[in-house]
Amino acid sequence: MAVTNSTTRVTVRCAFCDKLNRVDVARAADRPTCGECGRPILLDRPVKVSDDDFAATVEGAEVPVLVDFYADWCGPCRMVAPFVDELARQHMGRLLVAKVDTDRAPNVSMRFGIRSIPTLVVIRDGKEVDRSVGFEPERLKSMIAGVVA
Ligand SMILES: [Zn+2]
Repeated sequence: MAVTNSTTRVTVRCAFCDKLNRVDVARAADRPTCGECGRPILLDRPVKVSDDDFAATVEGAEVPVLVDFYADWCGPCRMVAPFVDELARQHMGRLLVAKVDTDRAPNVSMRFGIRSIPTLVVIRDGKEVDRSVGFEPERLKSMIAGVVA
């Protein structure tokens, strides 16, 4: 599959001070740090995204994004979470993994028509290209294999 973008920047929220940072995921191994607080921007694990930063982080990403729509009270979401974490580790530098707590992000959850969780949506260039509903780790793996080079 052709690489559609030659740049691989994403905007992610610092896990420590909440400041949005623009970082190049291809340089994740160089351990990028937050421009505000200087602590590490962690790209080997999912980043939390909500209504206010979804557009910047997910739709503005220059790499494919896997979005995990979940809720804390959802058992199947907890079952799929380790697979989502593993995909973030495995594809660091080529994929951004985002988690959306559907209880705290009603607008984006409604916009994507999330009726059942977990729902995992693959977004490339701001558009949905695939989704998986429920606990489907094998399907999840093949969805990601389809978008990461
Ligand atoms: Zn920070």
